[in-house]
Amino acid sequence: MTFFVFPPPAPTVLPVSGGGLFPIRRVFCVGQNYAEHAREMGTDPLNEPPVFFTKPADAVTCASRLPFPPHTERLDYEGELVVAIGLGGANIPPAKGLEHVFGYTVGCDLTRRDLQAAAKKGGRPWDMAKGFDCSAAVGVVHPVAEIGHPAKGTIRLSVNGLEKQRADLADMIWSVPQVIAHLSTFVTLAPGDLIFTGTPAGIGPLARGDEVDVSVEGVTSHLFTIG
Ligand code: MN
Repeated sequence: MTFFVFPPPAPTVLPVSGGGLFPIRRVFCVGQNYAEHAREMGTDPLNEPPVFFTKPADAVTCASRLPFPPHTERLDYEGELVVAIGLGGANIPPAKGLEHVFGYTVGCDLTRRDLQAAAKKGGRPWDMAKGFDCSAAVGVVHPVAEIGHPAKGTIRLSVNGLEKQRADLADMIWSVPQVIAHLSTFVTLAPGDLIFTGTPAGIGPLARGDEVDVSVEGVTSHLFTIG
C-alpha cells in the first residue's frame, strides 16, 4: 500500500501590535451589517438575523501588494472591522461576547462582485466570489489590552486618496458581542478565528494599481495596492 505523509500546512499568522503572532484558524464574515449597505444591495436590513459566510484561512494576507484575481471584471472593496477571537465557546450569551475577543484589526473583504451576483441569481454558492486567494486583506492585530473594545468610531475606506466609505461602528445593526453570540450558536468558536463584521455603504470596484486605505478610529489602519 502506498500512502503519502504531508507536512502540516503552515498556519497563516498575523502580526500582533506589541509583539507576537496571531495564528488564524477560520474566517467568518457577516453578510450585511450596516442598514445603508443592505439597502444598496437591494435587501431590507430590518429584523433580519445576520448572515454568515466563510473564507479559507489562507485567504488572509497582510501583504502590501495583492494580485488582481482571475475570473472577474468587478473586484470590489469592502472595508470592515475585524475581530480576532482569543477564547472559544458555543452558545455564548451576548453579555459575555466581548470576553472572547483577543483583539481587533481592520480588513478588506475583497469580492468578485460579478461572480457573487451570478451566484445569487442562480441560487449557487458564493465561495469563488468571496473565498479566493488574498481575498481577506487585514492589518496588524491590536489586543484588547491595548485598545479596549471599540463600540463607536469612524470606519473609513479610501481608494487612491478618495474617500469611498465612511460610517460609524455604532451604525452596525449587530454589535460585536451580538455577532459573536449569534455565530456561536452555529459553530463552536475557537482561538484564532477571525470575524469580518460587515461593510458600510459605498462599495465599489478596484482596478490594477489602485491603492486602498482602510481604517477604524481607535483601532488601526491598513494600506495595500492591487496588482
Ligand atoms: Mn463583507
